[in-house]
Amino acid sequence: MTIEKIAVIGSGTMGKQIALNAAIHGINVKLTDAFPESLKKAQAWADEYLQGRIDKERMTEEQVKEARSNIKFVYDLEEAIADVECVIEVIVEDLTTKLNLFAKLDKMCPPEVILASNTSSFVPSKLAKAVRDGRKGKVIDMHFFNPVLVMKLVEIVRGPDTDDDTVDAIVGLGEKMGKTPVVLDKEINGFVVNRIMGRTFEEACRLIEAGIATPEVIDICAEIGLRHPMGPCKLMDLNGIDTCLRVREQRYEESQEEIDKPPLVMKQMVEKGLYGRKTGEGFYKYD
Ligand code: NAD
Repeated sequence: MTIEKIAVIGSGTMGKQIALNAAIHGINVKLTDAFPESLKKAQAWADEYLQGRIDKERMTEEQVKEARSNIKFVYDLEEAIADVECVIEVIVEDLTTKLNLFAKLDKMCPPEVILASNTSSFVPSKLAKAVRDGRKGKVIDMHFFNPVLVMKLVEIVRGPDTDDDTVDAIVGLGEKMGKTPVVLDKEINGFVVNRIMGRTFEEACRLIEAGIATPEVIDICAEIGLRHPMGPCKLMDLNGIDTCLRVREQRYEESQEEIDKPPLVMKQMVEKGLYGRKTGEGFYKYD
């Protein structure tokens, strides 16, 4: 099965980028959000991004026109999921909220529609609990990386019930979107990249908490000493400290291991509303 028409639910940091990435690669995409304000912002962001591509001569006017015609910003959920082959869920990293949405989608979508999630941590079998038996084979994780328009990897995680056709179709969709898919056949919280990256984030936070290094010093060390393209503090600001904290809390809840306890500095920043780029301040300040 080749996926040509998708719906993306959630137009925040990741959803807007996933949708635009799909549109640029010739996929018909409808982007929606429960909060109209978020969808409006996503549309303005997409317009600005595409104009920037023309200005920088990275895309021609014709290519931009084509991308614009492939993406629709839709305020109504029912309209967004009508006549699509796959829905990608990109809403807040909260299990109850995701399960409610999956249960709703299961009732609203025809049985052959694939329900994929961009979750950073919840394995497909957890999300599949919300759907009827006949749909469990169609539930899969499709984990993109931020910034989606730049990062080539997509982790595809299958659950014990995910069927081969669903895996193949999602691999095909990832490739069509210009990504390099890796398929994980076994479920594990955080998958591969976030397990590695999460440790870096935690260590960076602990160095800050202990007063040993500032975010600037940590980022310089990672960027020059490890040749990471972006230091961990800049990356946490980009990903959203709130999202990073939720991922850590969820991991700790599952493992109950001391090493997975969310760092104090992350909690304090979230309490103060310092979520990173999305709120204008995190480890760094943004205009
Ligand atoms: P975000 O907070 O920026 O955006 C979430 C969006 O979902 C918001 O626009 C919100 O209005 C919308 N929303 C919330 N509940 C909804 C509902 N019930 N129905 C429809 N829309 C709803 O979050 P994000 O950073 O884009 O993360 C989204 C998902 O992607 C999470 O599962 C997260 O773990 C995952 N993810 C995030 C990153 C990252 O770098 N931020 C990277 C990979 C994966």
